[in-house]
Amino acid sequence: MTRFDLEGIGMTSPRTRRRLVERLKSRGIRHPDVLAAVGAVPRHIFVDEALAHRSYEDSALPIGFGQTISQPYIVAMMTEALIADGPDRVLEIGTGSGYQTAVLAHLVRRVYSVERIGGLIERAAERLEALALTGVRIKHDDGAHGWSEQGPFDAIMITAAAPEVPAALLDQLADGGRLVAPVGGEGQQALLLLQRDGERILSRHLEAVRFVPFLNGIQN
Ligand code: SAH
Repeated sequence: MTRFDLEGIGMTSPRTRRRLVERLKSRGIRHPDVLAAVGAVPRHIFVDEALAHRSYEDSALPIGFGQTISQPYIVAMMTEALIADGPDRVLEIGTGSGYQTAVLAHLVRRVYSVERIGGLIERAAERLEALALTGVRIKHDDGAHGWSEQGPFDAIMITAAAPEVPAALLDQLADGGRLVAPVGGEGQQALLLLQRDGERILSRHLEAVRFVPFLNGIQN
């Protein structure tokens, strides 16, 4: 048996997952591929066993190191905003549990994900491997640098809040590419959808959100 019980204690039952998908639909998520991806990823393996019974609720949960796995609605909404133009190569900053990475891996050909906390990225790597998802690469680094060797990216998702989007990430966004990020200080932030149009960056406010802070440097 793998370290991750993919069957769970009845938690991957179609009903449990379907309930979460229904909840996302009722909150306005429409894209069938996004709904199918959320329905396909076993969220319970991305949290500690003690919290697994809450893993299909539409709420954020702690994942250790003071970090959280995002609320499924936020994951779905950000994913929907990002994949509208059918991106091929996506960069994610803030791997965390790896849940969002797994959802993206169902939708695009290549996902590159960067996380600054070593303990988190190790566990995320094990989970992504257990799911045998292809096209995913992860890296232990400060995401402020992006992943220049692999850029430019058709889409970039930042899952931690900073007062502004790091310049290196905007530099690695392809023309026409979309970037979604929570922008602001501690507490509440604005979830922004940016789109590169040549030298210009267009910006649209999606909604008010609450994310953990974007921090500098790496940590074990
Ligand atoms: N997408 C994750 C959400 C994790 S919370 C999930 O689905 O579980 C945000 C993550 O961003 C945390 O793991 C945090 O350590 C990470 N983070 C914060 N600042 C970062 C930085 N500068 N570079 C890379 N990751 C960062």
